[in-house]
Amino acid sequence: MRKQMKTLIDRLARGDSLRPAEYEALIAQSDPEVMEYLFSRARKVQLREFGNKVFLRGLIEISSYCTNDCYYCGIRAGNANARRYRLDADQILACCERGYDLGFRTFVLQAGDDPFFSRDVVCGIVRRIKSRWNDCAVTLSLGEKSRDEYEAYFEAGADRYLLRHETANPAHYGRLHPDDMAHESRIRCLHDLKEIGFQVGAGFMVGSPFQTDRHLAEDLQFLAEFKPHMVGIGPFIRHQDTPFRDFPSGPLQKTLVLLAILRLLLPRAMLPATTALGSIDPHGREKGILAGANVVMPNLSPDEAREKYSLYDNKLSTGAEAAGGTRLLREKLAGIGYEIADGRGDWQPRAKEIGSCTTS
Ligand code: SAH
Repeated sequence: MRKQMKTLIDRLARGDSLRPAEYEALIAQSDPEVMEYLFSRARKVQLREFGNKVFLRGLIEISSYCTNDCYYCGIRAGNANARRYRLDADQILACCERGYDLGFRTFVLQAGDDPFFSRDVVCGIVRRIKSRWNDCAVTLSLGEKSRDEYEAYFEAGADRYLLRHETANPAHYGRLHPDDMAHESRIRCLHDLKEIGFQVGAGFMVGSPFQTDRHLAEDLQFLAEFKPHMVGIGPFIRHQDTPFRDFPSGPLQKTLVLLAILRLLLPRAMLPATTALGSIDPHGREKGILAGANVVMPNLSPDEAREKYSLYDNKLSTGAEAAGGTRLLREKLAGIGYEIADGRGDWQPRAKEIGSCTTS
């Protein structure tokens, strides 16, 4: 069994993708020796591709209003207890300014599906950020929009878009979302974003209600085919004011196993050690990096916004998780042998994919 699992890991490390039953077997195992083998193979790939550098993104949560009713999410429309806020353009620019001074060169603007952020409003904000700081990347994470709207964001200068697919299994998607949300629409958005030219991030929660290892295998298969530039994964964490209030959090170890498999499957992908991972374990973020993650996204939102952008209970937004805590973050990373990379940290193809003229 142990030997069989190591063979699967070796095959992944060689660039093979696996069959669903093989992914499932790898995800289901909990042999510490196999897991350590998996993490060390993933780290080897991470160090080969990126050295010991971790990329930094500043997360700005621009609105907690949402018209969607995702059953897992604390800012769902149906949560009457949610505290709602939205930042205006000047407040967002002020967050970027602070971030820029702290060394951030990527700003991630995330929100619930808030109609206030119309095409014109979003494009105006993107243009202001890009004209003020032309050495910075702008990532948007504003949910499902029409292709036209995504095109307008791209023309305004947005570089990247994060839209987790949440689950690759349509029936499972149906158990996490109300009937007015369709799996195929989410997937259509991801394809549109990629075709338009964005660096695209997909992703899912680990341990979401009703998820099986077969579903996770389908997620891996979907990602192996779709080849996103970024993959955001983190444990599901319950929120007290949602229909999923009684479900347990997703397991740390399984999240790490999936991060490591993703590092082998998509060697160049930007894989954040997410806030959710840091929120379920005091060393979650460092463990994520040691399993193959290469991005951290400290919170640049104003203090009063942070506690209101409550996707799940006990969400971290202070200490090394806060943008102001970059010194602490650097120390923590140094403790495991990593340092923060300079610059925007764009996704780059591997040398052999860009052609022989770039290799010497
Ligand atoms: N409205 C945007 C942003 C959603 S919030 C969109 O639709 O893409 C960003 C991510 O947080 C979600 O995609 C989801 O995967 C994650 N999330 C939401 N609730 C969560 C919870 N309870 N536990 C863990 N992650 C959660």
